[in-house]
Amino acid sequence: MNRYPSRPVVLCLSGHDPSGGAGLQADIEALLAQGCHAAPAVTALTVQDTVNVSDFRVLDRAWVLAQANAVIADLPVAAVKLGMLGSLEMVDTVVEIMARLPSVPLVCDPVLRAGGGGALGKDEVGYAIRERLLPLCRIATPNLPEARILAELPAGSADQCAAKLLPYCAHLLITGGHGDETEIHNRLYTRDGGQHTFTCARLPGSYHGSGCTLASTLAGRLALGEELVSAVKSALDYTWRTLRDAEQPGHGQYVPRRL
Ligand code: PLP
Repeated sequence: MNRYPSRPVVLCLSGHDPSGGAGLQADIEALLAQGCHAAPAVTALTVQDTVNVSDFRVLDRAWVLAQANAVIADLPVAAVKLGMLGSLEMVDTVVEIMARLPSVPLVCDPVLRAGGGGALGKDEVGYAIRERLLPLCRIATPNLPEARILAELPAGSADQCAAKLLPYCAHLLITGGHGDETEIHNRLYTRDGGQHTFTCARLPGSYHGSGCTLASTLAGRLALGEELVSAVKSALDYTWRTLRDAEQPGHGQYVPRRL
């Protein structure tokens, strides 16, 4: 007997961060807070603390496919969130998984660096994400440094990166938190020329898992049926609150308080 109506299911294909700030734990917590059910499929394991990442290992393609296939065969996946993929092979694996979910909204956080700067994938992984995954996405959520890598414009502005990337994807949210202005401008671009800027106050400190929190929340809001621009605003507002309420559990970055 079903006691409650089921919450929308979001399949998360992300890495695991044992410090609990980023990766799948961020996805699970943020999705719970939206009233969604996270189905967390592991793409990679990392060794890291709240300061930085020291190593990572990408799982075998067969293991990731098997995890995703088990979820897809059993649960009604309402959205998919991509985080750390870590290798070219994992990009192809996600393409194969999405072929089974053709009309399900896909949110891609093109993770290539940890908050402390350590690499979580080579730039070639970013180029493969641009070529093969952005065309499948409802929206991609790079921060400006990630957008510069994807666009191959090392000093490009958000507008310049968007002009280069919009032929690949329908919507692009370039977040501005990595600069040093007192106000943060998060820019949403639409392929048809639409543009929205969401401005918020910069909070003091640096954060571990803010990008994961934003992208998984956005996937959750789309899974709940929220329209895209409204979902982006909801996700940015929620993420900002988790940063305002963040804790510093270790010796490094602050961890968003998502619940
Ligand atoms: N995914 C994993 C597994 C990570 O370890 C990290 C950062 O350490 C990220 C994603 C990206 O984190 P952020 O949300 O801070 O960009």
